[in-house]
Amino acid sequence: MADSRAAEGGAQGAEVDVVVVGAGFSGLYLLHKLRGLGLRVRVLEAADDVGGTWYWNRYPGARCDIPTTDYTFSFDPDLETAWTWSEKYATQPEILRYAQFVAERYDLRRDIDFNTRVEAAHWDAAANQWRIRTSTDASLSARFCIMASGCLSVPKAPEITGASRFQGDVYFTSRWPHQGVDFTGQRVAVIGTGSSGIQSIPLIAEQAAQLTVFQRTPNYSIPAGNGPVAPARRAPLEADRAGYRQAAKLSRAGVPNEPTQIYGRYSQPALQAERFEAAWQTGELIPILGVFADQILFPDSNAIVAGKVREKIRAVVQDPETAELLCPKDHHIGTKRPCLDTGYYQTFNRPNVRLVDLRTRPIASITETGIDLADETMAFDAIVYATGFDAMTGAIVAVDITGRDGITLKQKWAAGPITYLGLMSAGFPNFFTITGPGSPSVLSNMMVSIEQHVDWVSDCLVRLRADGLTTIEPTPAAEAAWMVHSNDCAAITLFPSADSWYMGANVPGKPRVFLPYVGGVDAYRRACDDVAVRGDLGLHRSGPAGERCNDGVVRQLQPDVGMVLDMLAAMNLPTFNSMSAEAARAFMDQLSAARPPGPAVGETLDGTLPGASPGSGPLNYRLYRPATPGPHPVVVYFHGGGWVLGSHDSDDPLCRDLCRRSGCLIVSVDYRHAPEARFPAAADDGSAAVRWVSAHLADLGGAPGPVAVAGWSAGANVAAVTCQQLRDNGGPAIAGQLLLTPVTDCDMATPSYQDNAEGYVLTAPLMQWFWDHYADPADRAHPKASPLRAASLANLPPACIVTCQFDPLRDEGVAYAKALAAAGNRVQHIPARGHTHTSLTMVDVVVSGEPVRAEMAAALHGFFQRVAVAA
Ligand SMILES: Cc1cc2nc3c(=O)[nH]c(=O)nc-3n(C[C@H](O)[C@H](O)[C@H](O)COP(=O)(O)OP(=O)(O)OC[C@H]3O[C@@H](n4cnc5c(N)ncnc54)[C@H](O)[C@@H]3O)c2cc1C
Repeated sequence: MADSRAAEGGAQGAEVDVVVVGAGFSGLYLLHKLRGLGLRVRVLEAADDVGGTWYWNRYPGARCDIPTTDYTFSFDPDLETAWTWSEKYATQPEILRYAQFVAERYDLRRDIDFNTRVEAAHWDAAANQWRIRTSTDASLSARFCIMASGCLSVPKAPEITGASRFQGDVYFTSRWPHQGVDFTGQRVAVIGTGSSGIQSIPLIAEQAAQLTVFQRTPNYSIPAGNGPVAPARRAPLEADRAGYRQAAKLSRAGVPNEPTQIYGRYSQPALQAERFEAAWQTGELIPILGVFADQILFPDSNAIVAGKVREKIRAVVQDPETAELLCPKDHHIGTKRPCLDTGYYQTFNRPNVRLVDLRTRPIASITETGIDLADETMAFDAIVYATGFDAMTGAIVAVDITGRDGITLKQKWAAGPITYLGLMSAGFPNFFTITGPGSPSVLSNMMVSIEQHVDWVSDCLVRLRADGLTTIEPTPAAEAAWMVHSNDCAAITLFPSADSWYMGANVPGKPRVFLPYVGGVDAYRRACDDVAVRGDLGLHRSGPAGERCNDGVVRQLQPDVGMVLDMLAAMNLPTFNSMSAEAARAFMDQLSAARPPGPAVGETLDGTLPGASPGSGPLNYRLYRPATPGPHPVVVYFHGGGWVLGSHDSDDPLCRDLCRRSGCLIVSVDYRHAPEARFPAAADDGSAAVRWVSAHLADLGGAPGPVAVAGWSAGANVAAVTCQQLRDNGGPAIAGQLLLTPVTDCDMATPSYQDNAEGYVLTAPLMQWFWDHYADPADRAHPKASPLRAASLANLPPACIVTCQFDPLRDEGVAYAKALAAAGNRVQHIPARGHTHTSLTMVDVVVSGEPVRAEMAAALHGFFQRVAVAA
């Protein structure tokens, strides 16, 4: 049947508007959508029918692992009601029938060439055309080339010695015979325990006389609980289909789901158990991957979930040794794709099934008759390879794609794929990838991601046509920035810690880079939409109507900083500067109560010390002592809050973090606040506190020697001023000053004030409010308020100054670092890319701040080491 279609649809020498490579769900929807725009489209497909993944993967037990309520097209409401899925997780034959149903419904096959593998695509710059060459020797020209070639469509070849010698039957789960396989009475080996292995092993075990499973890496798998779709699961969809689909588009993984705010590391065991069990009972991956908000961020939280899955495995598998081998211990749950199964672990209780652990008993060779280990020879009638795919990039670079100036995509991607939004690549005009690397793709419900990409590409082509333009490609700067952003997203998670196919680790020689975009379907969609709305940002477009290059970067904030800002914006909170000082303080306390508490330290102690004004009473302080043996060097810390807000309690998580990381004893001082105590009360209290702490080191249990000072924002202003005051007034020696986003000057006209005036928590109007409460205009230029203006900046303690990219105070911090260095002081400047004035203090919320806080702690440590060396 397919041959005749191919002949009828043959496109020898033809010219079309768009060539689409692949007729899986991506290719099918592309064809439908682009045809609707009046474009001439040709789809080229290696198989003899539609379906892609569901055409090729016909192994027993093959099913989707996203529920069919969600793993389905939503672009046409009539299509949704015309098709009814029979089960919670449909089988491969049913999903293939669905793909065929879609092809028939929209009469798609007439524009598809089957049995046609695309071998090369070369950009002809003179003609502005892609020249396509196929396995059928057809040549085709098209203005646009779109790879819908699949993320999991190139099977990974087994790299086992002797594989070709085996004389029995050999099967690949991803290339399963169409007529099926009967293993009755046979001795069967299955190599691989990823998703395909885990789905097929129970069914093969039921037929085979003997089944031997060869496992290199045990995977986390949860029982699918398959059957008819549960009424509770169906109800929200049926009640409001459009609303449900919209919620999927705006969700993190492409399935409507309310993410939890509960942290595993700070929750009680009873709650942990309750949340885990509820997720387990759903038989769905997304709940089990979201038991806790911090599960993919912190190993201790992840370990709670992983440990409970292991308990489940041990409860099922009767032989304790086999159970231990099946328990995953070498990766955090979720960092490799977890599996859904039907009776997988129970299969190992069958007398005809055995498990071989390849870590301790590797295969020496495959032979004519079976498999040899070092200490055992096994005979088999059939070997089944369930060894996975060359994921995400395999099918793209398998085609000889040559862009402008003769550069091939394979060359460009030699060290890992480089894309803009996972959709395009600079140097390859009019070339798109559907669910390409750098997009959420395999981390999402791919139906949602496929539809989003197809819609975005078609809208992009519509804009191009409307603007009288014919070619489009990303600018190198936009593309590079997207890669930075995509890597930033992965870096704050545990994902890169695993040797997974997400990292290319399953294919020898493949560069180790994290391939999909982990920032979420919702965040990703917003970025793509922003690119379109902001005038095709980061794209160079040209044609008869001229050239338009809108170079720029769509995402510069660290991903978790962006998430916090989005969350705050959605909450529509009142601004501090719209309140009285008193109300602002109460509001800040309220916000502080809702944050994670920060890490444990050895001990915290609250006390008081005398300030600069005996009449106004003592100052509160909180001492943080490391858990390590002391005495520890001492740091006097001053909190942020614009001289108006905050206390010895307000920066608690940050002080804990600094204490733990630096091994220093921190004394956090609650200096006097404005407007009750205006300039220079805070500055004077800073000096008084350092004098008192320096004189009471032994009482506090600190190490003898000079103390260091540290502070954030206005507290960093107090710390910087204190160093100057003690230098000028004969104070104790200071080991160093750590200034996090300091206020150093009253000039509010710097570029950073203008660029970041609004939108990043500390706004220009709020800073104005702080200054107005703290100091009269005439006093603001005084060095005790603006330390940058000191007559001399010489002979000050070594400094570490942290500035944040999206902070009104950035430029004055940079200026202070430069001025201190120019005056001969030792200065370390840490510019925190993608951070805001407040983000580095958000311990356990903004994980991307961790490396910066580690540098800050190292700087503190370094201050004291230098003192020790000098002594
Ligand atoms: C066993 C399995 C289960 C899965 N379950 C889920 C799930 O539950 N949920 C989910 O979201 N995702 C799942 N996926 C991912 C799945 O791949 C996608 O959901 C989706 O089917 C991908 O559609 P696609 O059209 O983009 O790619 P594919 O379905 O892979 O189709 C690509 C097509 O391109 C063709 N092709 C490739 N290169 C060429 C070439 N050079 N010339 C011509 N043709 C070419 C291939 O033959 C193939 O037919 C699963 C994947 C596998 C392997």
